[in-house]
This record gives sequence, structure tokens and C-alpha cells, in this order.
Amino acid sequence: MSRGGHNWKGHGTVEGARPLDVMKVARAGYLSGSRSGGWQWTYQDETTAFIGITGGRQAITLDYRTQTRGEDWQPVHQRVPIRWTPCRFGGERPWFVCDVMANGVHCGRQVAKLYGSGRLFACRQCYRLGYQVQRGGLMDRAHHRLARLHRKLGADYDGPDGPPPPRPKWMRQRTYQRAVQQIENGEDHLNAVFVAGAQRLLARIDRS
Ligand SMILES: [Zn+2]
Repeated sequence: MSRGGHNWKGHGTVEGARPLDVMKVARAGYLSGSRSGGWQWTYQDETTAFIGITGGRQAITLDYRTQTRGEDWQPVHQRVPIRWTPCRFGGERPWFVCDVMANGVHCGRQVAKLYGSGRLFACRQCYRLGYQVQRGGLMDRAHHRLARLHRKLGADYDGPDGPPPPRPKWMRQRTYQRAVQQIENGEDHLNAVFVAGAQRLLARIDRS
């Protein structure tokens, strides 16, 4: 994972979460009855995430454990309602209902995918809502500050995870060292803002 686990361009924030696709869940047989089993995600570094699923036609239940910073692991049982709609050429197809509260408002959207990024699985829109709130203020200012520091060194800013730009030929070594130090401080600050924002975001998504 990159430092802080965030992404300057805003892509990857939701995609990096554990996606649960209703069609895949259906193909695995979980929507035809009360079959129980599990779902697993494998990442490039081969760490895996695992949840239990109890199937059903009207709803499935997700079972897993989550940990908030500094607290014990908590078991989570999340019921996800399933809605069926007729297909154009006959038959029917399932949808998840995003049954959480985001920013204090019940979502209720009918979606093909849910994402597990915090304590509960929620739709993309619920997460985006949180990220907009988070990105609008302090995150943007922290990024703008870093972009300004990079421009001082004659470099484009492409996110906080790369190495510092090289020293421009015309710049004295001491001035350069000071600029690099400022960039590092700026990245630490950005990380702190991100972590605080992510915690606020998780607090916003709640059971309905
Ligand atoms: Zn939602």
C-alpha cells in the first residue's frame, strides 16, 4: 500500500476497497437459497481478506470482523437486502440494496456492487459522499501546498508518493535541502489529514 493509502487523483479510493459484485454472488449460488460460505479477495501482495456469507433470495448476511484504530476486533453481521427486477428479454436479475446511513441519510440505492472499505459494506455513492466532504477542504489545501513546493523546484506535482524532485542546477544545495524538508513535512501533514478524514468518513456510514 502506498503511504497513507490515498490517491491524489481520487481514483482508486473506492476501487481499492473490497468490491462485492451481486452477479458474482448470484453465480456462486448464494441467492438461490440459504447456502453459507465465504468470499475472499486476494491482492497483489497476496494478503487476503475474507468474509462469511449466508445466502438467501430476499437478503444475504455478511459476517466479518473489523478493527478501528486502537480498539479490539468487533464482529459485524450486516444484512444486505436483495431486490429482483425483470430483464428485458425475460427472467430477472438481482441487485443489492445499499441499506446504510451515509451522513445521517438512509441510502437505499439499488446497486450492482457494494464496497467494503470501512466497518460496513456500502455503495460507491455513499463512499463518494464522504470523500467529497473530506477532499473539499483540508486535503485540497495540503495538496496545493505540496504542488507549490514542487513548482519551486521546477517540477510537476503528481501526488505525494514519489521521491522528491531533483535539485535544479541553479539552486544552492542548502536551499534545495530546505525545500525537500518542507515537502516531507507537507506529506506528513497530508497523511495526518487523510487519516483523520478517513476516520470521520467511517463514522458517517452507519446502520439504517
Ligand atoms: Zn449507498
